[in-house]
Amino acid sequence: MPIQSISYILDENYQILSIADEFVEFRHTNGAPFLPGEVWGKEIWAHIQQNGLARTFQALFVKARRRPLSLLFRLDSEAQLSLWQVEAEAMETNLLICFSRVATEPRPRAAGDEPPKRPGVPLEFCGWCNRHSQPAQKPDWLNLEQTEYAQGLRIVSPSSVRIKLCDDCTKGLVRSHEPEHFQHLSLKSQQPASVSKTMHRVPA
Ligand SMILES: [Zn+2]
Repeated sequence: MPIQSISYILDENYQILSIADEFVEFRHTNGAPFLPGEVWGKEIWAHIQQNGLARTFQALFVKARRRPLSLLFRLDSEAQLSLWQVEAEAMETNLLICFSRVATEPRPRAAGDEPPKRPGVPLEFCGWCNRHSQPAQKPDWLNLEQTEYAQGLRIVSPSSVRIKLCDDCTKGLVRSHEPEHFQHLSLKSQQPASVSKTMHRVPA
């Protein structure tokens, strides 16, 4: 069962004070589980570096100390498309953050009998919505075959894959933070699995 939600309590330096119970399913990208000693007292940024988004999240969390925030974002794998929600709110000097999965769908295959069209190089993705963008084209998600190609490319030539925020996400994240600016993330959302404050455990 893949992880459904994970929650952190961070101190004023964004170090992890506590992590909610679904932690037991939280894993490194290589599949190895995190151990409490690896997490408590560490800064949260080490956990959200994968898409180069640490700085974006940092700016959001600074704002969340003044006003609670709730935003949708995409976190896709090669085989699955997933919509996630991040919620953050202040708890005195600490910050409560919760990431929850709200929808998952299999990644569609290329249509028809034609071999799938390979995306051009360099491959540019938005770190927030995961769409691939090409010059003079509307950003969109890659199908399964294109994603397999992109994954291979990422391994043999990491510098040919670039992450930057697309115009739609920049507008939503920089100017407004309102959920209606993230409708382009698509996927039919379900009721997110919730992690409550009381599920937090602290180091002994
Ligand atoms: Zn985007």
